Amino acid sequence: DGSAAGRSTGGARLTVLAGPTAVGKGTVAADIRERFPDIWISVSATTRKARPGEEHGVHYLFVSDEEFDRMIADDELLEWAVVHKAARYGTPRQPVLDKLAEGRPALLEIDLQGARQVRERMPEAHFVFLAPPSWDELVRRLVGRGTETAEERERRLQTATLELAAEKEFDVTIVNASVREAADQLVKLIQSPSSGKS
Ligand code: 5GP
Repeated sequence: DGSAAGRSTGGARLTVLAGPTAVGKGTVAADIRERFPDIWISVSATTRKARPGEEHGVHYLFVSDEEFDRMIADDELLEWAVVHKAARYGTPRQPVLDKLAEGRPALLEIDLQGARQVRERMPEAHFVFLAPPSWDELVRRLVGRGTETAEERERRLQTATLELAAEKEFDVTIVNASVREAADQLVKLIQSPSSGKS
């Protein structure tokens, strides 16, 4: 495309995937990582502890509160947010800019607060809302994951109620009825230059 934004990013586009808590954003991103290695997915920094099976530098950059403070102070984050009042998560900016400059599509899998910040800073990005097939299904997933306490689950449900109402702020909605199909739809969007904003 001929716009200034298109030129400055080498023509490649940033896609932001957001949606309610436990809708399966991480699972869809993991499926894309595995089946479409050409699509670069940002690795977020977080202050939360790694869960079993999670690797530093692959799933997240697990950093201390002090290191996260430093990243904010040095303006290294494109966006950041406190998620579920529990931990801070943020997107390192430079890797995203580098990939776009190389002409490689980039994908962010972040929460709604983060998506709003990216929209202010990079409005040319493409914003995709991942929706649950139903509210009941979302609750089932939230409880089924079993990695949080009852109090944490309650907090996540409250967040999800607000997040469901945010769908209208997004360019496109993908319903996550099947991880594979949702991932395929997202990849199609990422790879088709004509599907987004000009
Ligand atoms: P989890 O702790 O289950 O891996 O992720 C919790 C939430 O943090 C998810 O909703 C995920 O989308 C969000 N998240 C992960 N990385 C980032 C990030 O870099 N920025 C923001 N704003 N949210 C993130």
